[in-house]
Amino acid sequence: MQPASRMNQIPPYLFLELDKLVAKQRQLGRDVISLGIGDPDRPTIPVAVDALKLAVDNPDTHRYPNYLGSEAFRQSISHWYHQRFGVDLDPASEVIGLIGSKEGIAHLIWAMAGPGDIVLVPDPAYPVYHTQSILAGAQSYPLPLTAENQFLPDLNAIPEDIWNRAKILWLNYPNNPTGAVATREFYQEAVRLCLLHDVLLASDGAYLDIGFDGYRAPSLLEIPGAKEIAIEFYSLSKPFNMTGWRIAAAVGNPQAIGLLGTLKSNLDSGPFTAIQDAARATLESNPWPFIQSMNQLYQDRRDLAVQALNNMGIAISPPRSTFYLWFQAPFGMTSQEATNYFVHHADVVLTPGEAYGKHGEGWLRISLTIDTLRLQEGLDRMARALRDHPPA
Ligand SMILES: *Cc1c(COP(=O)(O)O)cnc(C)c1O
Repeated sequence: MQPASRMNQIPPYLFLELDKLVAKQRQLGRDVISLGIGDPDRPTIPVAVDALKLAVDNPDTHRYPNYLGSEAFRQSISHWYHQRFGVDLDPASEVIGLIGSKEGIAHLIWAMAGPGDIVLVPDPAYPVYHTQSILAGAQSYPLPLTAENQFLPDLNAIPEDIWNRAKILWLNYPNNPTGAVATREFYQEAVRLCLLHDVLLASDGAYLDIGFDGYRAPSLLEIPGAKEIAIEFYSLSKPFNMTGWRIAAAVGNPQAIGLLGTLKSNLDSGPFTAIQDAARATLESNPWPFIQSMNQLYQDRRDLAVQALNNMGIAISPPRSTFYLWFQAPFGMTSQEATNYFVHHADVVLTPGEAYGKHGEGWLRISLTIDTLRLQEGLDRMARALRDHPPA
């Protein structure tokens, strides 16, 4: 069997590889603690579970869904954006339901870019922006995210000929993997440059509702004029512990939403209606107490982990959002060396920063989506390993 040549151009999906590594070590009888994967450990918000049980008993939900998302679900996203961000969205033309935002991110790239086109992709970043650009036959142009620049890309460093061939600029704030947040000034500049060059600005808002010490992330669509050139992905996965449910929405520029809808209606038939009903019930239920309790839990874990890393001599300041800590590998190890070191000397799995792009080399990511006592145990083991088996 010979796969399509495009399959040779993409690396194996990182988290699949991490899963395999953990499985292998566990088979050897090791008690492995995985701090690798960003997937909430707590149960889904109860209102979603209750609403799903009712919805699934209603045979109306058993048929093909509305391809673009049910009217009621799109209404609830529109209300949420109004309440949460003061952004007004027409549910019919400026909102589309997605089978998780990963699906929408991938398909937006297919709808917008092909051979000869460029996709502007932050580095490090969620791997899907790059791999889907390659699969679609386009080129991805890396935008380095560095600590010196607060992990914001230097948009003015993008050469004119690159802008001219670019079709999409990806942004993701609050940011995975760095934990960085964007300022309004940065968003204003991004909107200005994308309008100037007629490049679709795509904001991945997976972590918009995660925030610590009172921080609340802005939506890119709050910037005046943003809707003329921008689209944003809002996912229920991370704030409501619903990663397994596969439900999200894209909102904003009606032309981009329409293109996504055209492509998707030829590929899938939308999220299960019962899941859309449960998502709607969640957004309409005043879920703030739930969001705040999760944020408090992640904040407590963040504080514990930042303290532990600092005690190991690893410098890191506490991020204001996301459930990730991003830090340089100790003793000048490469990402891969450090990942191997901690697997073998601490039975702890971390994510190598280089998996998110070339500029992630030398960095590591810890995810806080693990039981607090296990997190503490993993950090204790890391400290012990560094003390008892210092890397050469
Ligand atoms: C988790 C994550 C996603 C995927 O979210 P789903 O809605 O579950 O597909 C997208 N982007 C980033 C940056 C993420 O971390």
